[in-house]
Amino acid sequence: MSGYETLASTKILNVRCAICGRLLRNPLSLEVAIGPECRERSGYDTVQVPPEAVEEANMLIRQVADLRRGPTVQEACARLFALGFTRLSAILFERFVKVVVQREENDRLTVKVGPPHAPTHSSTLAAVPGYIYDRERKLSVYPFSSKEHLWAALRELYPGEKLLNTDGRLLTIPWPKRKADGFGDVPY
Ligand SMILES: [Zn+2]
Repeated sequence: MSGYETLASTKILNVRCAICGRLLRNPLSLEVAIGPECRERSGYDTVQVPPEAVEEANMLIRQVADLRRGPTVQEACARLFALGFTRLSAILFERFVKVVVQREENDRLTVKVGPPHAPTHSSTLAAVPGYIYDRERKLSVYPFSSKEHLWAALRELYPGEKLLNTDGRLLTIPWPKRKADGFGDVPY
Protein backbone atom coordinates (compact mmCIF):
# COMPACT_ATOMS: atom_id res chain seq x y z
CA MET A 1 0.00 0.00 0.00
CA SER A 2 1.41 3.39 -0.93
CA GLY A 3 1.60 6.28 1.47
CA TYR A 4 -1.14 8.10 -0.39
CA GLU A 5 -3.59 5.22 -0.05
CA THR A 6 -2.88 4.92 3.66
CA LEU A 7 -3.54 8.63 4.13
CA ALA A 8 -6.69 8.65 2.02
CA SER A 9 -8.28 5.63 3.71
CA THR A 10 -7.46 7.00 7.16
CA LYS A 11 -9.22 10.22 6.24
CA ILE A 12 -12.34 8.50 4.92
CA LEU A 13 -12.66 6.18 7.93
CA ASN A 14 -11.78 8.76 10.54
CA VAL A 15 -15.39 9.52 11.48
CA ARG A 16 -16.21 9.34 15.17
CA CYS A 17 -19.53 8.83 16.94
CA ALA A 18 -20.97 12.27 17.80
CA ILE A 19 -21.97 10.93 21.22
CA CYS A 20 -19.24 8.60 22.54
CA GLY A 21 -16.37 9.48 20.20
CA ARG A 22 -15.64 5.90 19.08
CA LEU A 23 -14.48 5.38 15.50
CA LEU A 24 -17.31 4.37 13.19
CA ARG A 25 -17.14 1.63 10.59
CA ASN A 26 -20.47 0.51 9.15
CA PRO A 27 -22.27 2.53 6.46
CA LEU A 28 -25.37 3.49 8.47
CA SER A 29 -23.22 4.65 11.39
CA LEU A 30 -21.10 6.72 9.01
CA GLU A 31 -24.22 8.18 7.40
CA VAL A 32 -25.58 9.41 10.77
CA ALA A 33 -22.26 9.86 12.64
CA ILE A 34 -23.60 7.81 15.56
CA GLY A 35 -22.80 4.18 16.37
CA PRO A 36 -25.47 1.50 16.94
CA GLU A 37 -25.43 1.56 20.77
CA CYS A 38 -25.63 5.33 20.93
CA ARG A 39 -28.42 5.37 18.34
CA GLU A 40 -30.42 3.07 20.57
CA ARG A 41 -29.89 4.92 23.85
CA SER A 42 -30.46 8.36 22.32
CA GLY A 43 -33.83 7.32 20.90
CA TYR A 44 -32.61 7.81 17.33
CA ASP A 45 -33.83 4.35 16.26
CA THR A 46 -37.35 4.68 17.68
CA VAL A 47 -38.29 8.33 17.12
CA GLN A 48 -41.31 8.72 14.83
CA VAL A 49 -40.57 11.50 12.38
CA PRO A 50 -40.97 11.96 8.60
CA PRO A 51 -38.09 10.94 6.30
CA GLU A 52 -37.21 14.60 5.56
CA ALA A 53 -36.72 15.20 9.29
CA VAL A 54 -34.41 12.16 9.52
CA GLU A 55 -32.41 13.47 6.58
CA GLU A 56 -32.02 16.93 8.11
CA ALA A 57 -31.19 15.44 11.53
CA ASN A 58 -28.48 13.23 10.00
CA MET A 59 -26.88 16.27 8.42
CA LEU A 60 -26.98 18.20 11.72
CA ILE A 61 -25.50 15.30 13.69
CA ARG A 62 -22.67 14.96 11.17
CA GLN A 63 -21.98 18.68 11.54
CA VAL A 64 -21.93 18.41 15.32
CA ALA A 65 -19.50 15.48 15.02
CA ASP A 66 -17.27 17.70 12.88
CA LEU A 67 -17.37 21.09 14.60
CA ARG A 68 -15.25 22.83 12.01
CA ARG A 69 -18.27 23.43 9.80
CA GLY A 70 -22.02 23.96 9.99
CA PRO A 71 -24.11 25.53 12.74
CA THR A 72 -23.00 25.82 16.33
CA VAL A 73 -23.80 22.95 18.70
CA GLN A 74 -26.47 25.07 20.37
CA GLU A 75 -28.27 25.79 17.09
CA ALA A 76 -27.95 22.20 15.90
CA CYS A 77 -29.33 20.86 19.19
CA ALA A 78 -32.24 23.32 19.14
CA ARG A 79 -33.10 22.23 15.61
CA LEU A 80 -32.78 18.51 16.46
CA PHE A 81 -35.16 19.11 19.38
CA ALA A 82 -37.64 20.85 17.06
CA LEU A 83 -37.40 17.96 14.57
CA GLY A 84 -38.48 15.54 17.33
CA PHE A 85 -35.07 14.15 18.34
CA THR A 86 -35.49 15.44 21.90
CA ARG A 87 -33.41 12.90 23.82
CA LEU A 88 -30.63 12.90 21.24
CA SER A 89 -30.57 16.71 21.38
CA ALA A 90 -30.11 16.69 25.17
CA ILE A 91 -27.39 14.01 25.05
CA LEU A 92 -25.42 15.83 22.35
CA PHE A 93 -25.68 19.16 24.15
CA GLU A 94 -24.44 17.64 27.42
CA ARG A 95 -21.61 15.84 25.69
CA PHE A 96 -20.29 18.99 24.05
CA VAL A 97 -21.04 21.68 26.59
CA LYS A 98 -19.96 21.83 30.24
CA VAL A 99 -20.17 25.58 30.83
CA VAL A 100 -22.54 28.07 29.18
CA VAL A 101 -21.62 31.77 29.44
CA GLN A 102 -24.14 34.30 28.19
CA ARG A 103 -24.06 38.08 28.10
CA GLU A 104 -27.30 39.80 29.02
CA GLU A 105 -28.55 43.23 27.96
CA ASN A 106 -27.89 44.82 31.34
CA ASP A 107 -24.16 44.11 30.91
CA ARG A 108 -24.13 41.04 33.06
CA LEU A 109 -22.64 37.61 32.43
CA THR A 110 -24.56 34.49 33.38
CA VAL A 111 -22.78 31.20 33.96
CA LYS A 112 -24.36 27.75 34.02
CA VAL A 113 -22.28 24.64 34.70
CA GLY A 114 -23.51 21.11 34.07
CA PRO A 115 -22.88 18.35 36.65
CA PRO A 116 -20.72 16.91 38.03
CA HIS A 117 -19.35 19.97 39.79
CA ALA A 118 -15.76 20.36 41.01
CA PRO A 119 -15.41 20.12 44.85
CA THR A 120 -14.59 23.85 45.10
CA HIS A 121 -17.21 24.87 42.48
CA SER A 122 -19.47 26.93 44.78
CA SER A 123 -16.76 28.66 46.80
CA THR A 124 -14.65 29.53 43.73
CA LEU A 125 -17.57 30.97 41.75
CA ALA A 126 -18.87 32.84 44.82
CA ALA A 127 -15.42 34.43 45.33
CA VAL A 128 -15.60 36.19 41.92
CA PRO A 129 -16.45 39.90 42.57
CA GLY A 130 -20.12 40.86 42.17
CA TYR A 131 -21.39 37.26 42.38
CA ILE A 132 -25.16 36.78 42.60
CA TYR A 133 -26.92 33.41 42.52
CA ASP A 134 -30.13 33.46 40.48
CA ARG A 135 -32.23 30.79 42.23
CA GLU A 136 -35.01 30.80 39.68
CA ARG A 137 -32.74 30.13 36.68
CA LYS A 138 -30.16 28.19 38.74
CA LEU A 139 -27.17 30.11 37.44
CA SER A 140 -24.47 32.50 38.62
CA VAL A 141 -24.64 36.15 37.55
CA TYR A 142 -21.74 38.62 37.42
CA PRO A 143 -21.16 42.20 36.30
CA PHE A 144 -19.28 42.24 32.97
CA SER A 145 -16.46 44.07 34.75
CA SER A 146 -15.68 40.79 36.56
CA LYS A 147 -14.95 38.96 33.33
CA GLU A 148 -11.23 38.41 34.04
CA HIS A 149 -11.85 37.04 37.52
CA LEU A 150 -14.59 34.80 36.18
CA TRP A 151 -12.33 33.48 33.42
CA ALA A 152 -9.59 32.71 35.97
CA ALA A 153 -12.16 30.88 38.15
CA LEU A 154 -13.42 28.78 35.22
CA ARG A 155 -9.86 27.86 34.24
CA GLU A 156 -9.18 26.79 37.79
CA LEU A 157 -12.37 24.72 38.07
CA TYR A 158 -12.93 23.25 34.60
CA PRO A 159 -9.78 23.19 32.42
CA GLY A 160 -10.12 21.03 29.31
CA GLU A 161 -13.95 21.22 29.35
CA LYS A 162 -16.07 22.76 26.60
CA LEU A 163 -17.50 26.23 27.10
CA LEU A 164 -20.35 27.60 25.01
CA ASN A 165 -19.37 31.23 24.63
CA THR A 166 -21.48 34.39 24.41
CA ASP A 167 -21.22 34.30 20.59
CA GLY A 168 -22.57 30.73 20.40
CA ARG A 169 -19.17 29.19 19.64
CA LEU A 170 -17.60 26.32 21.55
CA LEU A 171 -14.16 26.64 23.03
CA THR A 172 -11.99 24.48 25.26
CA ILE A 173 -11.19 26.05 28.63
CA PRO A 174 -7.39 26.25 28.92
CA TRP A 175 -5.38 25.24 31.98
CA PRO A 176 -4.96 27.89 34.70
CA LYS A 177 -2.27 30.50 34.36
CA ARG A 178 0.20 31.23 37.12
CA LYS A 179 -0.83 34.34 39.05
CA ALA A 180 2.27 36.19 37.79
CA ASP A 181 1.12 35.70 34.16
CA GLY A 182 -2.07 37.70 34.73
CA PHE A 183 -5.43 36.59 33.32
CA GLY A 184 -4.56 35.99 29.67
CA ASP A 185 -7.02 36.73 26.84
CA VAL A 186 -10.63 36.60 27.99
CA PRO A 187 -12.84 35.21 25.19
CA TYR A 188 -16.23 36.73 26.08
ZN1 LIG B 1 -21.32 6.11 20.18
